[in-house]
Amino acid sequence: MTPTFEEFKAGLDERESRRALLTRDGRPFFVLLSQQFLRPDIEMLCDTATAIRRLDRHVDGREFLRGLLRGLRIMNLFAQPSTRTAESFIAAADKLGANSRLVSDLRTSSFAKGESIEDSVRTLSSFFDAIVTRHQDDDFAMRAAWSLAASRRPIPVVSAGSGKSQHVTQSLLDLYTLRYSFAERGGVDGKNVVIIGDIARNRAARSLAYLLTRFERPRIHFVSPDAFAPDDELMRYLHRHEVETSVHNALQPLLHDGGNGIDAIYVTRLQQEWDRGNNGIPDAGERGSSDDYVLKTEYRRLIRPDCVIMHPLPRVNELPESWEDHPGFMVWRQVRNGMWIRAALFAAMFGADGEIRARAGRLSLL
Ligand code: ASP
Repeated sequence: MTPTFEEFKAGLDERESRRALLTRDGRPFFVLLSQQFLRPDIEMLCDTATAIRRLDRHVDGREFLRGLLRGLRIMNLFAQPSTRTAESFIAAADKLGANSRLVSDLRTSSFAKGESIEDSVRTLSSFFDAIVTRHQDDDFAMRAAWSLAASRRPIPVVSAGSGKSQHVTQSLLDLYTLRYSFAERGGVDGKNVVIIGDIARNRAARSLAYLLTRFERPRIHFVSPDAFAPDDELMRYLHRHEVETSVHNALQPLLHDGGNGIDAIYVTRLQQEWDRGNNGIPDAGERGSSDDYVLKTEYRRLIRPDCVIMHPLPRVNELPESWEDHPGFMVWRQVRNGMWIRAALFAAMFGADGEIRARAGRLSLL
C-alpha cells in the first residue's frame, strides 16, 4: 500500500524506517535529512570525495571520472536564490560526465499555472535521472520524494536547501572540511564547536548540528539572539544522542571564558529574508548581525591559531574579511569541498563510488 505523505513523513522520524524510505540497495536515493547519514556513510562519502579530488588532478584521472555518469541528466530545480549551490551541483555532475539543467525561475514553469508538486516532478522524471531541488517550503523535497517513491519511474531527489529546516549537502561539505582540518588532531570526535547565528531559521547550522551527532562526544555551543535560539526538536535530538550543548545569547563572554578550548567556530548570517511577512517573529535587524553575533577581529587573541573558522556563505557583516589570513580560515576551502562532496554523493547514488575509491587506492591516492 502506498503511504500517504503524512505516513511517509512520520516514517522519517525513526532510524530504521528512515533508512528503508531513503535508500535503495544501500545507496542514498532520496537525500532529505542530515540524520539519514550514519557514521560509515559519512566516512565513505568523504573518502570518495578525496578520491575524486585527487584523481581530478591528472588528465587520465579526469578522463576516468568523466566517463562514470556519462549520459545521465540531472535537473536542478531552484525556487530560491542560489548561485553558489546550483553551480556547485552543476560542477559536481560535470566532474563525473553527467549533464545538468537549471531551472531557477519557477514562473517560467508550470508551477505558475498551479500545477502540483507531484505532477511536476513526475513529468520531470520522464526526462531526467535525478532532481536536485531548493525550495522555501520545508517539505517540498520531501513531497517530491514521496510522490516519486510511489511512481513507476522513481528517480533520486536531493534537497539543496529546504526552507528553514535542513541543508543536507551543506552539512556534508562542512563535515568534510572539519574532517580535513582535524586530520592530524584526532578527527572530528570530541571536538568543541561553536555555532553562531540564527539557529532557528538557519538550515545550514541546523543540518550541521544534526550531522555532528554521528561523532563521539562532540560539544556544541550555540550563540544566537533569544528569538532565534535552537528549537526544541533539534535540542531533544542532540541530547538523545549525548551531545553536550550550551546556548548563549552573546559571543564575547563565551570566547572570553573558554575561547582557548574551542576547536571550530561556524559563523552564519541572520536569515533576514524570513522577516518579510513574519508572524510575530521579532525583526532580525535591518542590515546584518548585531555586535553580539559578529566574530570581531579583536577576538583573535581569545582563540587558538588552529581554531577552524567556517561560514556557509553568503556573509554580511558577521565574519569580517580581516579573518581571511587566520591559519584556521576554511571558508574558501568549504566552497571547493562542496563540489567534491556533491560529486561523491552523485557517485554513491548511481553506484560509481566503489570504482572511484578502488582506482584511487590502486594509485595510492587514498
Ligand atoms: N547558503 C546557505 C543556505 O542556503 C546559508 C545562507 O543562505 O545563509 O542556507
